[in-house]
Amino acid sequence: MHDEVLRLEESIRLLLKYLGEDAERPDLRDTPRRFLQAMSELTRGLREPAPEIVFFSLDGKERPGPVMIEDISAASLCEHHLLPIIMRVSVAYVPGDRVPGLSKVIRLVRWAAARPILQERFTEWLADLLAERLGARSVSVRVCGIHMCAFLRGVVDEHHKMITQAKRGEIDIMPGCKCPAFR
Ligand SMILES: [Zn+2]
Repeated sequence: MHDEVLRLEESIRLLLKYLGEDAERPDLRDTPRRFLQAMSELTRGLREPAPEIVFFSLDGKERPGPVMIEDISAASLCEHHLLPIIMRVSVAYVPGDRVPGLSKVIRLVRWAAARPILQERFTEWLADLLAERLGARSVSVRVCGIHMCAFLRGVVDEHHKMITQAKRGEIDIMPGCKCPAFR
C-alpha cells in the first residue's frame, strides 16, 4: 500500500513535469500527496459503505405527506475528465411507515455523489438508492450540476447548468433548487 502511494505520488510529479512545472520546487513538494488526498476524498463513495439511515417511528395512524429537502450541496467528478461537478441535489419523498432523519439523507446524497459520474446515470441511480434506503412510498430527485470540464475548458461556458431529474413511484412533486447560482 505504501509503495503504491509512493508510485502514485511519483506519477503525479511526472504529470507536473509534463505540464511544464518544476516538480522539485519547495512549494510543490507536498502537492502530489495533497492531490491524492483530495482525489480520495472526492471518490470516497467508491470505498466507504453507505451511511446508515436513522429512522423515527410513526404511530400506525400517521400518514405524513411529501417531504422536500432542497439544495443539498454535493460534489462529484465527471467520469470523462475527472474534473469536479459542483451540484445542488433536491429530493422529495413520501415516507413509508417510518421517517428518515434529515442529516442522514444529506449524508447519503453526498456519499452517493462522491465518485466519478455521468450525471444522467447518477440521477437515475440516486432515485433508486433513495427509494430503497429511505423505505419511501415514492421519491423524486432533481440534480443541478455545474461541470468544471465545460465551465473552465472546451466550450468554456461559466453560465451553464445541467439539470436532470428522476422519479420512483407516484409523486407529483419535483423539488427545485433555490440557490441563485443554480437557477
Ligand atoms: Zn467532463
